[in-house]
Amino acid sequence: MKKLICALLALCLTAGLLGGALAEDEKPSVVTAIYPQYDFARAIAGDRVSLKMLLKPGAEVHTYEPAPQDIMAIDGCDLFVYGGGESDQWAEGLLAATGHEDRRVLALMDCVPLLEEEGEDGEEAEYDEHVWTSPKNAMLIVQALCDALCDIDPAGEETYRANTAAYLEELTRLDEAFRAVVASGERDTIIFGDRFPLLYFAHEYGLNYLAAFPGCSTETEPSAATMTELIRGAAKIKAPLVLYLELSNGAIARAVAEQTGADTHVFYACHNLTQDDFEAGKTYLDFMWENVDTLREALGEKAD
Ligand SMILES: [Zn+2]
Repeated sequence: MKKLICALLALCLTAGLLGGALAEDEKPSVVTAIYPQYDFARAIAGDRVSLKMLLKPGAEVHTYEPAPQDIMAIDGCDLFVYGGGESDQWAEGLLAATGHEDRRVLALMDCVPLLEEEGEDGEEAEYDEHVWTSPKNAMLIVQALCDALCDIDPAGEETYRANTAAYLEELTRLDEAFRAVVASGERDTIIFGDRFPLLYFAHEYGLNYLAAFPGCSTETEPSAATMTELIRGAAKIKAPLVLYLELSNGAIARAVAEQTGADTHVFYACHNLTQDDFEAGKTYLDFMWENVDTLREALGEKAD
């Protein structure tokens, strides 16, 4: 991988020299690794910047490897925004090899207080990388992103700050809606027949959870013990919904739900989105508001 990066870099640099400097009126270029930061940058910067998301819609996040044109994009951009966790180890070497004084780099994990990954018994503790799943964290990330954009494009500062203020208000409304749903909930536990990249979300709202796998485990087949635990857990709280993630086949959730008479429903971690949703311009806020309704149904409402 390192060798490939070096070879491609040499190619890029040559191409860059031949191509000459960018035109003066070119928009600042912002390259984002995956969807959450892409959507946040779009909300704050609008069309003031040229914005690129490296991960393809519908693609599996954790097996991403940069294509040559992705490496060129990172090499030549004004601001690169990535997660900074385990899935982004490919980026560390690349960034070190393509250090530019005039390129800003922002890691989401540097913007928020971190939580340790679950299910890593005995090994060195790793921090969970899905920081954006908590709207409170999204607020911190958006503020840091705004500062970075103002840095690379001071002429746009007024626009960025105004858009950020409006977006923070939207996130505040979303946060209040989740809090209200949890406060009036008949239950305080969610059942996930899937991976569980929602640690920050659950932690923020004081939710308990049972999940087939912690974090974004690469496992796909739960053990019999895990299935039993999920089915017992779902039956015990009479869970109306067993949840699964976007871009998942939902098979584990269905298997659990069939045993307990529950329904299944998608709950968005906003990790990635389908090509159709991408083309429709669906946003983090769109997905999260759907989550508000799903959570209300999953928790039920206390009788007065
Ligand atoms: Zn993940």
